Amino acid sequence: MADRMLQFVRLDQRQPEKRDATVRRADFAEIYREFEPAQASSQASRCSQCGVPFCQVHCPLNNNIPDWLKLTAEDRLEEAYEISAATNTFPEICGRICPQDRLCEGNCVIEKGFGSVTIGSVEKYITDTAWARGWVKPPKPTRELAQSVGIIGAGPAGLAAAERLRLRGYQVHVYDRYDRVGGLMIYGIPGFKLEKEVVLRRWKQFEDGGIRFHLNTAVGQDISLAELRQRHDAVLIGTGVYKAREMSAPGIGLAGIVPALSYLTASNRVGLGEAVAEYESGTLNAAGKHVVVIGGGDTAMDCVRTAVRQGATSVTCLYRRDKANMPGSMREVYNAEEEGVRFEWLGAPEAFRGDDRVKAVIAHRMHLGLPDATGRQQVTPMPNSRFELQADLVIMALGFDPEDLPTAFDEPALPVTRWGTLKVDHRTMMTALPGVFAAGDIVRGASLVVWAIRDGRDAADQMHSYMQQQARALAVAAE
Ligand code: FAD
Ligand code: SF4
Ligand code: SF4
Repeated sequence: MADRMLQFVRLDQRQPEKRDATVRRADFAEIYREFEPAQASSQASRCSQCGVPFCQVHCPLNNNIPDWLKLTAEDRLEEAYEISAATNTFPEICGRICPQDRLCEGNCVIEKGFGSVTIGSVEKYITDTAWARGWVKPPKPTRELAQSVGIIGAGPAGLAAAERLRLRGYQVHVYDRYDRVGGLMIYGIPGFKLEKEVVLRRWKQFEDGGIRFHLNTAVGQDISLAELRQRHDAVLIGTGVYKAREMSAPGIGLAGIVPALSYLTASNRVGLGEAVAEYESGTLNAAGKHVVVIGGGDTAMDCVRTAVRQGATSVTCLYRRDKANMPGSMREVYNAEEEGVRFEWLGAPEAFRGDDRVKAVIAHRMHLGLPDATGRQQVTPMPNSRFELQADLVIMALGFDPEDLPTAFDEPALPVTRWGTLKVDHRTMMTALPGVFAAGDIVRGASLVVWAIRDGRDAADQMHSYMQQQARALAVAAE
Protein backbone atom coordinates (compact mmCIF):
# COMPACT_ATOMS: atom_id res chain seq x y z
CA MET A 1 0.00 0.00 0.00
CA ALA A 2 1.45 3.33 -1.07
CA ASP A 3 2.37 5.89 1.57
CA ARG A 4 0.15 8.93 1.91
CA MET A 5 1.74 12.34 1.51
CA LEU A 6 2.31 14.93 4.29
CA GLN A 7 4.20 12.36 6.35
CA PHE A 8 6.79 14.85 7.60
CA VAL A 9 4.96 15.05 10.93
CA ARG A 10 5.44 11.31 11.43
CA LEU A 11 8.63 10.46 9.55
CA ASP A 12 12.03 11.96 10.27
CA GLN A 13 14.25 13.21 7.50
CA ARG A 14 16.67 10.49 6.39
CA GLN A 15 19.42 10.87 3.83
CA PRO A 16 20.81 7.72 2.18
CA GLU A 17 23.42 6.07 4.38
CA LYS A 18 26.88 7.65 4.23
CA ARG A 19 29.90 5.34 4.11
CA ASP A 20 32.02 5.50 7.25
CA ALA A 21 34.69 8.22 7.04
CA THR A 22 37.51 5.82 7.90
CA VAL A 23 36.51 3.56 4.99
CA ARG A 24 35.71 6.22 2.39
CA ARG A 25 39.00 8.08 3.04
CA ALA A 26 40.73 5.22 1.27
CA ASP A 27 38.95 5.37 -2.10
CA PHE A 28 37.33 7.69 -4.65
CA ALA A 29 33.91 6.00 -4.73
CA GLU A 30 30.82 8.10 -3.97
CA ILE A 31 30.24 8.50 -0.27
CA TYR A 32 26.44 8.06 -0.21
CA ARG A 33 24.78 4.69 -0.71
CA GLU A 34 21.59 4.37 -2.79
CA PHE A 35 18.19 4.67 -1.06
CA GLU A 36 16.39 1.38 -0.54
CA PRO A 37 13.10 1.51 -2.57
CA ALA A 38 10.96 1.64 0.59
CA GLN A 39 13.12 4.42 2.02
CA ALA A 40 12.84 6.48 -1.16
CA SER A 41 9.06 6.24 -1.25
CA SER A 42 8.66 6.99 2.45
CA GLN A 43 11.04 9.97 2.26
CA ALA A 44 9.17 11.27 -0.81
CA SER A 45 5.90 10.94 1.13
CA ARG A 46 7.13 13.57 3.62
CA CYS A 47 6.33 16.26 1.02
CA SER A 48 3.27 18.37 1.86
CA GLN A 49 2.47 19.07 -1.84
CA CYS A 50 2.56 22.85 -1.44
CA GLY A 51 0.26 24.94 -3.63
CA VAL A 52 3.18 27.28 -4.27
CA PRO A 53 6.20 24.96 -4.08
CA PHE A 54 9.19 27.06 -3.06
CA CYS A 55 11.46 24.09 -3.78
CA GLN A 56 10.48 24.33 -7.46
CA VAL A 57 10.78 28.13 -7.53
CA HIS A 58 14.36 27.88 -6.23
CA CYS A 59 15.43 25.05 -8.53
CA PRO A 60 17.21 26.64 -11.53
CA LEU A 61 15.40 24.16 -13.81
CA ASN A 62 12.03 24.70 -12.11
CA ASN A 63 11.72 20.93 -11.82
CA ASN A 64 8.22 19.65 -11.06
CA ILE A 65 9.42 18.41 -7.68
CA PRO A 66 6.07 17.88 -5.91
CA ASP A 67 4.81 15.79 -8.84
CA TRP A 68 7.74 13.41 -8.96
CA LEU A 69 7.81 13.14 -5.18
CA LYS A 70 4.15 12.09 -5.14
CA LEU A 71 4.69 9.54 -7.92
CA THR A 72 7.72 8.13 -6.06
CA ALA A 73 5.68 7.87 -2.87
CA GLU A 74 3.13 5.87 -4.89
CA ASP A 75 5.86 3.64 -6.40
CA ARG A 76 5.01 4.96 -9.91
CA LEU A 77 8.68 5.36 -10.74
CA GLU A 78 8.55 5.27 -14.53
CA GLU A 79 6.12 8.21 -14.54
CA ALA A 80 8.25 9.98 -11.94
CA TYR A 81 11.25 9.54 -14.26
CA GLU A 82 9.36 10.91 -17.29
CA ILE A 83 8.41 14.05 -15.38
CA SER A 84 11.86 14.50 -13.91
CA ALA A 85 13.59 14.03 -17.30
CA ALA A 86 11.22 16.48 -19.01
CA THR A 87 12.90 19.47 -17.36
CA ASN A 88 16.40 18.16 -16.57
CA THR A 89 18.96 16.67 -18.98
CA PHE A 90 20.95 15.05 -16.14
CA PRO A 91 18.68 14.54 -13.09
CA GLU A 92 20.95 11.84 -11.62
CA ILE A 93 23.92 14.25 -11.76
CA CYS A 94 22.05 17.19 -10.21
CA GLY A 95 20.70 14.84 -7.52
CA ARG A 96 24.31 14.06 -6.64
CA ILE A 97 26.08 17.42 -6.87
CA CYS A 98 23.66 20.34 -6.68
CA PRO A 99 24.17 22.34 -3.48
CA GLN A 100 20.61 21.46 -2.46
CA ASP A 101 20.98 23.26 0.87
CA ARG A 102 21.17 26.54 -1.08
CA LEU A 103 18.57 25.63 -3.74
CA CYS A 104 15.56 23.29 -3.59
CA GLU A 105 15.96 21.75 -0.14
CA GLY A 106 17.07 24.99 1.51
CA ASN A 107 13.72 26.48 0.42
CA CYS A 108 11.47 23.54 1.28
CA VAL A 109 8.78 24.91 3.62
CA ILE A 110 9.09 22.02 6.05
CA GLU A 111 12.83 22.68 6.43
CA LYS A 112 12.15 24.78 9.54
CA GLY A 113 11.75 22.42 12.49
CA PHE A 114 11.27 19.13 10.63
CA GLY A 115 14.09 18.96 8.08
CA SER A 116 13.45 19.40 4.36
CA VAL A 117 12.30 16.67 2.03
CA THR A 118 15.44 14.92 0.71
CA ILE A 119 14.74 16.14 -2.83
CA GLY A 120 18.21 15.59 -4.33
CA SER A 121 18.51 12.01 -3.11
CA VAL A 122 15.06 11.13 -4.42
CA GLU A 123 15.87 12.72 -7.80
CA LYS A 124 19.06 10.64 -8.00
CA TYR A 125 17.18 7.50 -6.96
CA ILE A 126 14.51 7.97 -9.66
CA THR A 127 17.00 8.31 -12.53
CA ASP A 128 19.44 5.67 -11.26
CA THR A 129 16.45 3.32 -11.19
CA ALA A 130 15.52 4.43 -14.72
CA TRP A 131 19.04 3.55 -15.91
CA ALA A 132 18.92 0.17 -14.16
CA ARG A 133 15.54 -0.66 -15.75
CA GLY A 134 16.42 0.56 -19.25
CA TRP A 135 14.03 3.54 -19.34
CA VAL A 136 16.76 6.06 -20.28
CA LYS A 137 16.83 6.18 -24.07
CA PRO A 138 19.28 7.77 -26.56
CA PRO A 139 18.07 11.12 -27.93
CA LYS A 140 16.82 9.83 -31.29
CA PRO A 141 14.66 12.26 -33.27
CA THR A 142 11.49 11.17 -35.07
CA ARG A 143 12.62 12.99 -38.25
CA GLU A 144 16.00 14.19 -39.50
CA LEU A 145 16.59 17.81 -40.53
CA ALA A 146 19.28 18.94 -42.95
CA GLN A 147 20.35 21.87 -40.78
CA SER A 148 23.33 21.37 -38.52
CA VAL A 149 24.69 22.98 -35.37
CA GLY A 150 28.24 23.20 -34.04
CA ILE A 151 28.63 23.18 -30.27
CA ILE A 152 31.99 24.19 -28.79
CA GLY A 153 32.47 22.54 -25.40
CA ALA A 154 31.18 19.18 -24.16
CA GLY A 155 30.44 20.38 -20.63
CA PRO A 156 26.92 20.35 -19.17
CA ALA A 157 25.89 23.52 -21.08
CA GLY A 158 27.00 22.15 -24.45
CA LEU A 159 25.59 18.68 -23.78
CA ALA A 160 22.20 19.95 -22.60
CA ALA A 161 21.90 22.00 -25.79
CA ALA A 162 23.13 19.08 -27.92
CA GLU A 163 20.48 16.71 -26.60
CA ARG A 164 17.63 19.16 -27.03
CA LEU A 165 18.63 20.10 -30.59
CA ARG A 166 19.18 16.47 -31.58
CA LEU A 167 15.70 15.56 -30.34
CA ARG A 168 14.37 18.23 -32.70
CA GLY A 169 16.18 16.49 -35.59
CA TYR A 170 19.21 18.75 -36.15
CA GLN A 171 22.60 17.30 -37.12
CA VAL A 172 24.55 18.02 -33.95
CA HIS A 173 28.36 18.23 -33.87
CA VAL A 174 30.13 18.81 -30.54
CA TYR A 175 33.77 19.97 -30.55
CA ASP A 176 35.95 19.68 -27.44
CA ARG A 177 39.66 20.15 -26.86
CA TYR A 178 39.67 17.29 -24.36
CA ASP A 179 39.68 13.57 -25.09
CA ARG A 180 36.53 12.84 -23.10
CA VAL A 181 33.03 14.28 -22.92
CA GLY A 182 31.72 15.98 -19.75
CA GLY A 183 33.83 19.12 -19.17
CA LEU A 184 34.30 19.80 -15.46
CA MET A 185 31.94 16.91 -14.64
CA ILE A 186 34.68 14.54 -15.82
CA TYR A 187 37.97 16.38 -15.11
CA GLY A 188 37.06 18.82 -12.31
CA ILE A 189 34.57 17.22 -9.92
CA PRO A 190 36.08 14.26 -8.02
CA GLY A 191 34.66 10.74 -8.12
CA PHE A 192 33.64 10.76 -4.45
CA LYS A 193 30.96 13.33 -5.41
CA LEU A 194 30.22 12.08 -8.93
CA GLU A 195 31.51 8.72 -10.13
CA LYS A 196 32.87 8.96 -13.68
CA GLU A 197 30.72 6.12 -14.99
CA VAL A 198 27.62 8.26 -14.35
CA VAL A 199 28.94 10.81 -16.90
CA LEU A 200 30.46 8.29 -19.32
CA ARG A 201 27.19 6.35 -19.76
CA ARG A 202 25.48 9.60 -20.88
CA TRP A 203 28.23 10.13 -23.46
CA LYS A 204 27.51 6.67 -24.91
CA GLN A 205 23.76 7.38 -25.03
CA PHE A 206 24.33 10.67 -26.85
CA GLU A 207 26.49 8.94 -29.47
CA ASP A 208 23.81 6.27 -29.88
CA GLY A 209 21.33 9.09 -30.49
CA GLY A 210 23.44 10.37 -33.39
CA ILE A 211 25.30 13.29 -31.77
CA ARG A 212 28.78 13.49 -33.36
CA PHE A 213 31.70 14.30 -31.04
CA HIS A 214 34.92 15.80 -32.42
CA LEU A 215 37.31 15.38 -29.51
CA ASN A 216 40.92 16.60 -29.16
CA THR A 217 39.78 19.57 -31.24
CA ALA A 218 40.55 22.97 -29.74
CA VAL A 219 38.53 25.65 -31.48
CA GLY A 220 40.83 28.60 -32.10
CA GLN A 221 43.78 26.26 -32.70
CA ASP A 222 42.76 23.13 -34.61
CA ILE A 223 39.79 24.78 -36.29
CA SER A 224 38.66 28.40 -36.36
CA LEU A 225 35.35 29.77 -35.20
CA ALA A 226 34.93 31.24 -38.71
CA GLU A 227 35.22 27.75 -40.19
CA LEU A 228 32.60 26.39 -37.80
CA ARG A 229 30.26 29.21 -38.80
CA GLN A 230 30.70 28.19 -42.41
CA ARG A 231 30.04 24.52 -41.63
CA HIS A 232 26.97 24.96 -39.44
CA ASP A 233 23.70 26.87 -39.46
CA ALA A 234 24.24 27.97 -35.86
CA VAL A 235 27.06 27.71 -33.32
CA LEU A 236 26.99 27.55 -29.53
CA ILE A 237 29.98 28.50 -27.37
CA GLY A 238 29.97 26.61 -24.05
CA THR A 239 33.65 26.65 -23.20
CA GLY A 240 33.47 27.29 -19.44
CA VAL A 241 35.97 29.26 -17.34
CA TYR A 242 39.42 27.89 -16.62
CA LYS A 243 41.83 30.68 -15.75
CA ALA A 244 42.81 30.27 -12.09
CA ARG A 245 42.48 33.47 -10.05
CA GLU A 246 45.96 34.36 -8.86
CA MET A 247 47.51 36.10 -5.86
CA SER A 248 50.84 37.82 -5.52
CA ALA A 249 52.88 37.18 -2.39
CA PRO A 250 56.55 36.61 -1.60
CA GLY A 251 57.54 33.03 -2.52
CA ILE A 252 54.47 32.40 -4.72
CA GLY A 253 56.69 30.97 -7.50
CA LEU A 254 58.22 28.21 -5.33
CA ALA A 255 57.93 24.61 -6.50
CA GLY A 256 55.17 22.77 -4.69
CA ILE A 257 52.57 25.55 -5.10
CA VAL A 258 50.02 24.36 -7.65
CA PRO A 259 46.65 25.47 -9.04
CA ALA A 260 43.58 23.53 -7.86
CA LEU A 261 42.30 22.50 -11.27
CA SER A 262 45.64 21.05 -12.45
CA TYR A 263 45.73 19.04 -9.22
CA LEU A 264 42.14 17.78 -9.53
CA THR A 265 42.45 17.05 -13.27
CA ALA A 266 45.54 14.92 -12.66
CA SER A 267 43.73 13.01 -9.92
CA ASN A 268 40.67 12.44 -12.12
CA ARG A 269 42.82 11.27 -15.02
CA VAL A 270 44.61 8.80 -12.73
CA GLY A 271 41.19 7.59 -11.55
CA LEU A 272 40.25 7.00 -15.19
CA GLY A 273 43.26 4.70 -15.54
CA GLU A 274 45.72 7.08 -17.23
CA ALA A 275 49.42 7.43 -16.41
CA VAL A 276 49.97 11.10 -15.47
CA ALA A 277 53.63 12.11 -15.33
CA GLU A 278 53.12 14.97 -12.84
CA TYR A 279 51.27 12.59 -10.54
CA GLU A 280 53.94 9.90 -10.79
CA SER A 281 56.69 12.47 -10.12
CA GLY A 282 54.86 13.75 -7.03
CA THR A 283 54.27 17.28 -8.36
CA LEU A 284 50.49 16.79 -8.36
CA ASN A 285 50.28 14.07 -5.74
CA ALA A 286 49.64 14.63 -2.03
CA ALA A 287 50.86 11.21 -0.80
CA GLY A 288 53.05 11.55 2.29
CA LYS A 289 52.89 15.36 2.27
CA HIS A 290 51.73 18.13 4.55
CA VAL A 291 49.12 19.80 2.36
CA VAL A 292 47.67 23.30 2.72
CA VAL A 293 44.72 24.27 0.52
CA ILE A 294 44.01 27.99 0.26
CA GLY A 295 40.37 28.97 -0.37
CA GLY A 296 36.92 28.23 1.04
CA GLY A 297 34.74 27.26 -1.92
CA ASP A 298 33.62 23.90 -3.25
CA THR A 299 36.82 23.55 -5.30
CA ALA A 300 38.85 23.91 -2.10
CA MET A 301 36.71 21.22 -0.46
CA ASP A 302 37.30 18.92 -3.44
CA CYS A 303 41.06 19.48 -3.10
CA VAL A 304 41.27 18.79 0.64
CA ARG A 305 39.22 15.63 0.30
CA THR A 306 41.25 14.44 -2.69
CA ALA A 307 44.48 15.02 -0.73
CA VAL A 308 43.12 12.89 2.15
CA ARG A 309 42.39 10.05 -0.29
CA GLN A 310 45.85 10.29 -1.87
CA GLY A 311 47.38 9.61 1.56
CA ALA A 312 48.55 13.06 2.68
CA THR A 313 50.24 13.19 6.09
CA SER A 314 48.12 16.22 7.07
CA VAL A 315 45.57 18.36 5.24
CA THR A 316 44.72 21.91 6.31
CA CYS A 317 42.30 24.35 4.70
CA LEU A 318 43.25 28.00 5.17
CA TYR A 319 40.33 30.38 4.70
CA ARG A 320 40.17 34.09 5.48
CA ARG A 321 36.58 34.17 6.76
CA ASP A 322 34.86 31.94 9.34
CA LYS A 323 32.86 28.75 8.88
CA ALA A 324 29.51 30.57 8.73
CA ASN A 325 30.80 32.72 5.86
CA MET A 326 32.25 29.95 3.70
CA PRO A 327 31.07 30.17 0.08
CA GLY A 328 31.20 26.37 -0.22
CA SER A 329 28.35 24.02 0.63
CA MET A 330 28.15 23.29 4.39
CA ARG A 331 27.49 19.64 3.60
CA GLU A 332 30.91 19.40 1.92
CA VAL A 333 32.61 21.12 4.90
CA TYR A 334 31.09 18.54 7.28
CA ASN A 335 32.18 15.71 4.99
CA ALA A 336 35.72 17.10 4.93
CA GLU A 337 35.78 17.47 8.73
CA GLU A 338 34.62 13.87 9.14
CA GLU A 339 37.41 12.75 6.82
CA GLY A 340 40.05 14.39 8.99
CA VAL A 341 40.65 17.78 7.32
CA ARG A 342 41.77 20.55 9.68
CA PHE A 343 40.35 24.05 9.11
CA GLU A 344 42.20 27.26 9.90
CA TRP A 345 39.36 29.79 9.83
CA LEU A 346 40.05 33.52 9.69
CA GLY A 347 43.54 32.98 8.30
CA ALA A 348 45.02 34.51 5.15
CA PRO A 349 48.34 33.74 3.46
CA GLU A 350 50.98 36.44 3.56
CA ALA A 351 54.05 34.67 2.09
CA PHE A 352 55.44 31.24 1.24
CA ARG A 353 58.72 30.08 2.82
CA GLY A 354 61.19 27.66 1.27
CA ASP A 355 64.48 27.42 -0.65
CA ASP A 356 63.67 25.86 -4.00
CA ARG A 357 60.52 24.09 -2.74
CA VAL A 358 57.81 25.41 -0.45
CA LYS A 359 58.23 24.43 3.22
CA ALA A 360 55.63 26.59 4.96
CA VAL A 361 52.79 29.02 4.48
CA ILE A 362 53.15 32.20 6.54
CA ALA A 363 49.70 33.50 7.41
CA HIS A 364 48.01 36.05 9.64
CA ARG A 365 44.69 36.15 11.43
CA MET A 366 41.78 38.11 10.01
CA HIS A 367 39.02 40.04 11.72
CA LEU A 368 35.44 40.00 10.42
CA GLY A 369 34.09 43.54 10.35
CA LEU A 370 30.87 45.24 9.29
CA PRO A 371 29.08 44.27 6.07
CA ASP A 372 30.02 46.26 2.94
CA ALA A 373 27.64 47.44 0.16
CA THR A 374 27.25 43.83 -1.06
CA GLY A 375 26.14 42.73 2.42
CA ARG A 376 29.27 40.61 3.01
CA GLN A 377 31.31 41.20 6.17
CA GLN A 378 34.63 42.82 5.37
CA VAL A 379 37.82 41.12 6.52
CA THR A 380 40.85 42.97 7.83
CA PRO A 381 44.20 41.58 9.03
CA MET A 382 44.78 41.54 12.80
CA PRO A 383 48.06 43.11 13.93
CA ASN A 384 50.79 40.82 15.34
CA SER A 385 48.89 37.66 14.49
CA ARG A 386 51.38 35.88 12.23
CA PHE A 387 51.52 32.07 12.26
CA GLU A 388 53.07 29.33 10.12
CA LEU A 389 51.70 26.14 8.62
CA GLN A 390 54.10 23.40 7.57
CA ALA A 391 53.54 22.60 3.88
CA ASP A 392 55.17 20.44 1.18
CA LEU A 393 52.25 20.99 -1.20
CA VAL A 394 50.16 24.16 -1.39
CA ILE A 395 47.03 24.07 -3.54
CA MET A 396 45.61 27.42 -4.62
CA ALA A 397 41.80 27.31 -4.88
CA LEU A 398 40.90 30.98 -5.17
CA GLY A 399 38.32 30.68 -7.97
CA PHE A 400 38.27 31.01 -11.75
CA ASP A 401 38.16 33.73 -14.37
CA PRO A 402 37.31 33.42 -18.06
CA GLU A 403 40.23 33.25 -20.46
CA ASP A 404 40.79 35.87 -23.11
CA LEU A 405 38.38 34.17 -25.49
CA PRO A 406 38.10 36.61 -28.39
CA THR A 407 41.84 36.40 -28.88
CA ALA A 408 41.77 32.61 -28.63
CA PHE A 409 39.03 32.43 -31.25
CA ASP A 410 40.70 35.14 -33.30
CA GLU A 411 37.36 36.92 -33.45
CA PRO A 412 37.66 40.57 -32.40
CA ALA A 413 33.95 40.96 -33.18
CA LEU A 414 33.04 38.76 -30.20
CA PRO A 415 32.47 41.19 -27.33
CA VAL A 416 33.17 40.42 -23.69
CA THR A 417 31.89 41.99 -20.48
CA ARG A 418 34.24 43.77 -18.12
CA TRP A 419 34.48 40.52 -16.13
CA GLY A 420 35.79 38.75 -19.25
CA THR A 421 32.64 36.67 -19.78
CA LEU A 422 31.03 36.55 -23.22
CA LYS A 423 28.43 39.21 -23.85
CA VAL A 424 25.09 37.89 -25.08
CA ASP A 425 21.65 39.36 -25.62
CA HIS A 426 19.96 37.77 -22.59
CA ARG A 427 16.63 37.37 -24.40
CA THR A 428 18.09 35.47 -27.36
CA MET A 429 21.38 34.22 -25.87
CA MET A 430 23.05 35.28 -29.13
CA THR A 431 26.41 37.08 -29.19
CA ALA A 432 27.08 40.03 -31.50
CA LEU A 433 28.02 37.51 -34.20
CA PRO A 434 24.83 36.43 -36.02
CA GLY A 435 24.07 32.76 -35.41
CA VAL A 436 26.67 32.42 -32.63
CA PHE A 437 25.14 31.75 -29.21
CA ALA A 438 26.78 31.24 -25.81
CA ALA A 439 25.79 29.46 -22.58
CA GLY A 440 27.07 28.21 -19.23
CA ASP A 441 30.04 29.44 -17.21
CA ILE A 442 31.50 31.38 -20.14
CA VAL A 443 28.48 33.70 -19.87
CA ARG A 444 27.75 33.56 -16.11
CA GLY A 445 31.28 33.18 -14.73
CA ALA A 446 32.08 30.14 -12.54
CA SER A 447 28.70 28.75 -11.46
CA LEU A 448 26.95 25.40 -11.14
CA VAL A 449 26.18 22.39 -13.30
CA VAL A 450 22.44 22.93 -12.86
CA TRP A 451 22.71 26.50 -14.20
CA ALA A 452 24.80 25.30 -17.15
CA ILE A 453 22.08 22.77 -17.97
CA ARG A 454 19.42 25.46 -17.75
CA ASP A 455 21.39 27.79 -20.01
CA GLY A 456 22.17 25.04 -22.51
CA ARG A 457 18.50 24.09 -22.79
CA ASP A 458 17.42 27.72 -23.17
CA ALA A 459 20.13 28.37 -25.76
CA ALA A 460 18.97 25.32 -27.74
CA ASP A 461 15.43 26.72 -27.89
CA GLN A 462 16.74 30.09 -29.07
CA MET A 463 18.96 28.44 -31.70
CA HIS A 464 15.95 26.48 -32.94
CA SER A 465 13.90 29.70 -33.34
CA TYR A 466 16.81 31.38 -35.10
CA MET A 467 17.31 28.50 -37.56
CA GLN A 468 13.58 28.34 -38.29
CA GLN A 469 13.60 32.07 -39.05
CA GLN A 470 16.63 31.66 -41.30
CA ALA A 471 14.97 28.77 -43.15
CA ARG A 472 11.78 30.81 -43.63
CA ALA A 473 13.78 33.79 -44.92
CA LEU A 474 15.58 31.53 -47.41
CA ALA A 475 12.29 30.03 -48.59
CA VAL A 476 10.81 33.51 -49.15
CA ALA A 477 13.95 34.64 -51.03
CA ALA A 478 13.74 31.57 -53.26
CA GLU A 479 10.09 32.25 -54.24
P1 FAD B 1 32.61 23.22 -18.52
O1 FAD B 1 32.05 22.14 -17.69
O2 FAD B 1 33.84 23.89 -18.05
O3 FAD B 1 32.84 22.64 -19.98
C1 FAD B 1 33.48 23.40 -20.96
C2 FAD B 1 34.08 22.48 -22.01
O4 FAD B 1 34.58 23.31 -23.06
C3 FAD B 1 35.25 21.65 -21.51
O5 FAD B 1 35.05 20.30 -21.84
C4 FAD B 1 36.45 22.23 -22.26
O6 FAD B 1 37.42 21.26 -22.58
C5 FAD B 1 35.81 22.78 -23.51
N1 FAD B 1 36.57 23.85 -24.15
C6 FAD B 1 37.08 24.97 -23.59
N2 FAD B 1 37.71 25.72 -24.51
C7 FAD B 1 37.60 25.06 -25.68
C8 FAD B 1 38.03 25.32 -27.01
N3 FAD B 1 38.70 26.42 -27.33
N4 FAD B 1 37.76 24.40 -27.97
C9 FAD B 1 37.08 23.27 -27.70
N5 FAD B 1 36.63 22.98 -26.45
C10 FAD B 1 36.87 23.87 -25.47
N6 FAD B 1 28.99 22.57 -9.84
C11 FAD B 1 27.99 21.95 -9.18
O7 FAD B 1 26.82 22.16 -9.51
N7 FAD B 1 28.26 21.10 -8.14
C12 FAD B 1 29.52 20.79 -7.76
O8 FAD B 1 29.72 20.01 -6.84
C13 FAD B 1 30.59 21.41 -8.46
N8 FAD B 1 31.87 21.10 -8.13
C14 FAD B 1 32.87 21.68 -8.85
C15 FAD B 1 34.17 21.32 -8.53
C16 FAD B 1 35.21 21.88 -9.25
C17 FAD B 1 36.60 21.48 -8.91
C18 FAD B 1 34.97 22.83 -10.26
C19 FAD B 1 36.10 23.47 -11.01
C20 FAD B 1 33.67 23.19 -10.58
C21 FAD B 1 32.61 22.61 -9.88
N9 FAD B 1 31.29 22.93 -10.18
C22 FAD B 1 30.28 22.31 -9.51
C23 FAD B 1 30.97 23.91 -11.24
C24 FAD B 1 30.56 23.21 -12.54
O9 FAD B 1 31.43 22.15 -12.82
C25 FAD B 1 30.53 24.22 -13.68
O10 FAD B 1 29.71 25.31 -13.32
C26 FAD B 1 29.96 23.59 -14.96
O11 FAD B 1 30.69 22.44 -15.32
C27 FAD B 1 29.98 24.61 -16.11
O12 FAD B 1 29.55 23.99 -17.27
P2 FAD B 1 29.98 24.52 -18.72
O13 FAD B 1 29.37 23.57 -19.67
O14 FAD B 1 29.66 25.96 -18.83
O15 FAD B 1 31.58 24.42 -18.75
FE1 SF4 C 1 17.32 20.43 -6.47
FE2 SF4 C 1 19.26 20.62 -8.28
FE3 SF4 C 1 17.42 18.77 -8.54
FE4 SF4 C 1 16.78 21.34 -8.92
S1 SF4 C 1 18.16 20.11 -10.15
S2 SF4 C 1 15.60 19.80 -7.77
S3 SF4 C 1 18.10 22.32 -7.40
S4 SF4 C 1 18.88 18.89 -6.88
FE1 SF4 D 1 7.18 19.37 -0.91
FE2 SF4 D 1 8.96 20.95 0.39
FE3 SF4 D 1 8.46 21.33 -2.16
FE4 SF4 D 1 6.58 21.91 -0.39
S1 SF4 D 1 8.56 22.95 -0.61
S2 SF4 D 1 6.28 20.85 -2.36
S3 SF4 D 1 6.94 20.29 1.12
S4 SF4 D 1 9.36 19.49 -1.25
